[in-house]
Amino acid sequence: MREASTRLADSLLARGVTRRDFLKYCGSVAVAVGLAETAAPQIAAALESASALKPVVWLEAGSCSGCTESVAQADSPDIATIVLDILSINYSETLMAGAGYSAEAAKEETIKAGGYILIYEGAVMTGWGGDALVIAGKKGTDELKEAAENAEAIVAVGSCAVDGGFVSQRPNPAGATGVQAYLNSVGIDKTVINLPTCPVNPEWVVAIVVEYLLLGKAPEMVERKHSNGTVLSYPKAIFGQSVHDNCPRRGHFENGEFVSQFGSKEEALGYCLYKMGCKGPQTFTNCPIVRWNRRASWCVESGAPCIGCGSMDWVDNNSPFLSRMSDMWMGDALGNVQPGTAAAVVGGVAAAALVVHGLGMNAAGRVGDGPPMETAKAYDRKRGAKKGGDK
Ligand code: SF4
Ligand code: SF4
Repeated sequence: MREASTRLADSLLARGVTRRDFLKYCGSVAVAVGLAETAAPQIAAALESASALKPVVWLEAGSCSGCTESVAQADSPDIATIVLDILSINYSETLMAGAGYSAEAAKEETIKAGGYILIYEGAVMTGWGGDALVIAGKKGTDELKEAAENAEAIVAVGSCAVDGGFVSQRPNPAGATGVQAYLNSVGIDKTVINLPTCPVNPEWVVAIVVEYLLLGKAPEMVERKHSNGTVLSYPKAIFGQSVHDNCPRRGHFENGEFVSQFGSKEEALGYCLYKMGCKGPQTFTNCPIVRWNRRASWCVESGAPCIGCGSMDWVDNNSPFLSRMSDMWMGDALGNVQPGTAAAVVGGVAAAALVVHGLGMNAAGRVGDGPPMETAKAYDRKRGAKKGGDK
C-alpha cells in the first residue's frame, strides 16, 4: 500500500494545490487554533497520516445549509480535497454524491462502528414531540441522540447548532434549540465543542478537527452560560477574546472617533463603527485575526459593523442590527454598563477597565473630539434601546 503522505501529496497536486500552498494552509490552521505559524509542518504531518484520520459524520438539522456552503467554498485546498483526504467525511447530506437508502446505510454503519467525530449543523427541532424535523422517516431528535451516543467528539457548527441561532428567534414555534441544551435535556452527558457564527468559518472547522486529531482530545475551552441556563463550551483560542479586542479600528474607539452616519467623512476615515451598531465589544470570536474568504477581509474591515452573529441568542438580542445597544459588556468587574455612565465613573478599579476600553480617555478629554456619549445616551433613553451581550 502506498504511503498515506505520498497519496495526499499526489492528490493535492492533482487538484493544483502545491506543497507550498498546503503548508501555507497548515499555517492558517495553526493560527486558527492558537498555535504559532511555525507549527505548520506538524499539522501537515498529521494531515498526511491520512490513514489515521477518524471518520466524520456531518448531520444537518434546522438549517439553511449555509455552514455546509461556507465549508464548501473553502478553496485552499479545495473542498474535494478536504472531503476526500483531510476530513474524511463519511456522511454529509449536502456534500455526498450518494443518496437514498445506500447513503443512510453508510451513515448507520459509521454510527454503529463508533469512534467518529460528529459535526452537527443547524438547530435541534424539538417541537411537536420531535416531528418538527423528520429525516429519512426518523425524528431529527432521535437521529441526534443515536449519533451523539457513539461519537468520540461532537462539534456544533454555526450559531443554530450552538443555541438555535436564527431558527430559534421568537416566537420559536418549532422549539429550535442548541445541541448542548438538547443533549443535557435527554441525559446524554457529553461536552459539545461549539463553533458559532452565521455561517461558521470553514477554517475553524478544519482547525478544530485537525487539533483533535493532533491532540486526541478537545482543545482548551472557555465556558459561558446561556440565558436558558445551559453552560456552553467554546475553544478558547478562537472564542476567548472579543472581536473588539482585536479590531484594527480599536484605536479610533480609544480616541472617541466614531462613525455616526454612513457616507460621512468619518466613515471614509475608517473610524469606529460602535455608534452604527457594532456588536464587536460583546461578541467573542477571532474574526479580525482569521478573517473570511481566504483571509481576504472580515465584516468591520469591509466597512460593516459586526452584527454579533457569534454571540448567544444573536438575532433576538442584536436586532435591529444597525442600532447601537444602550450598554456594553465591560468584563466581570463592571458587567453591562452604559457608555456615558462608564465614562462618568472613572476612578479606582473601574478606571483600569475603562482605560482598556478607552471610554475613560474620551471622558477625560485626553484624546480626540468624537461625538459626545451624552448625546448617544439621551438618544438611547428616548427610543428605549436594548441592553445585551454575552458575558
Ligand atoms: S466597536 Fe466595533 S468597529 Fe469599533 S473598535 Fe470595537 S469592534 Fe471595532
Ligand atoms: S465579525 Fe461579527 S458579524 Fe462578522 S462574522 Fe464575526 S461575529 Fe459574525
